Amino acid sequence: MTDLTPHLLARIEAHGPMTVADFMTEALLHPTMGYYTTRDPLGAAGDFTTAPEISQMFGELIGLALAQTWLDQGAPALFSLAELGPGRGTLMADILRATRAVPDFHAAAKVHLIEASPTLRAKQKSAVGEATWHDTIDTLPDDQPLFLVANEFFDALPIRQYQRGPEGWHERLIANRDGALTFALGPELPQPQLAHRLADTTEGQLVETCPTGTAITQTLGARIQSTKGAALLIDYGDWVSLGDTLQALQDHRSVPPLATPGEADITAHVDFEALAKAAACDHSRLTLQGVFLERLGITQRAQALADRLQGEALNSHVAAHRRLTHPSEMGNLFKVLALFPKDAPPPPGCAT
Ligand code: SAH
Repeated sequence: MTDLTPHLLARIEAHGPMTVADFMTEALLHPTMGYYTTRDPLGAAGDFTTAPEISQMFGELIGLALAQTWLDQGAPALFSLAELGPGRGTLMADILRATRAVPDFHAAAKVHLIEASPTLRAKQKSAVGEATWHDTIDTLPDDQPLFLVANEFFDALPIRQYQRGPEGWHERLIANRDGALTFALGPELPQPQLAHRLADTTEGQLVETCPTGTAITQTLGARIQSTKGAALLIDYGDWVSLGDTLQALQDHRSVPPLATPGEADITAHVDFEALAKAAACDHSRLTLQGVFLERLGITQRAQALADRLQGEALNSHVAAHRRLTHPSEMGNLFKVLALFPKDAPPPPGCAT
């Protein structure tokens, strides 16, 4: 049990109500009781599963898309092959396996993994082998092209929430009501960074920002424009988000976000427009995951793998293909945004 509630109540007692962002940071990354710090949350025994854990095809196709992008940019002889929030390391392991046959790709690639959780770093080490780990993207080499992937990373970054009032915005905060964590509203204040949301919201509506996510894509965009490379950002969310998307998952079931901090995965939908606008390089259109994977040839790959399978293994392979691509499963919920240099073609599967 790692219930952070007493710790969070004490913090509110000492400092007053906290932002949703501070709540998420504590719940997910508290050094001894945070959700990601203390466990491997993935897989059937965990709280949720992700595309790379569902099928090797996901990482294989992304690996080949990154390798083609690297070739399209002249196959630079030294580059960073990086992943944000690699979980168990499965995606990077599949990327590396699928690209083994691409001449010179492995010789040129230096693997960099950005991971906050010591527990997951250990898993990544056994899955990926040789790599350099980083706490943030700020320590990635800045003198070589950067080819990067992030799957279900941006949804875990802390968000802030604001409810529109008659004149300004009330920040949604977390307070102590009779010894329980509860949502409250801060005072109405001007929020210049939300000026662009005045046209598409009315009083009472809630909008979200993700300052860490925006800062990361700002850095990535500048890096990709100046040193070359590309980023594939894959997550659930929309071009513009509206309303409360804070959610928590425990044992593969939805739970109230404030109920069990430290024991549930807490995420929010990604506002892709905000990420794209922060990046100084070019970006693709937001592409549905199902469409992206079909364009990369998942059906052909699925058929080739199916030829070697039978019985239960074949059934679960067919189900995995459907789960990744079908519009009623992950195919439409998850989306891909590619960042790439202004003078380069977009990565395969991502149209502009
Ligand atoms: N990409 C993996 C795991 C997704 S879960 C997959 O698709 O299976 C989110 C991952 O991001 C975890 O590895 C988590 O520890 C990491 N993470 C969350 N917040 C982070 C932060 N602020 N900095 C670095 N890593 C973070």
